[in-house]
Amino acid sequence: MPSDFLPQIDPARCIGCELCVKLCPSGALGMLNEVAIVTAAEDCDYAGICQEICPTEAISLAYVIVFSGEKGGRRL
Ligand code: SF4
Repeated sequence: MPSDFLPQIDPARCIGCELCVKLCPSGALGMLNEVAIVTAAEDCDYAGICQEICPTEAISLAYVIVFSGEKGGRRL
């Protein structure tokens, strides 16, 4: 999966609670210096649980929306 489509983690917002690390179903997240990071990008299946449970909204997942008739998509 291209790195553009991995969870984006804002280190300034992360409080190091480790919820995302514990609840990620694919084990793609870990901690470095008390901040969450993507440690196994190849394992990320974009479940979105990390984004949902983060208490500080430090994680966001980009999505691509493809409109009818378009070949590509627009990243939001
Ligand atoms: S759930 Fe949010 S605040 Fe907690 S470790 Fe993960 S990114 Fe940081």
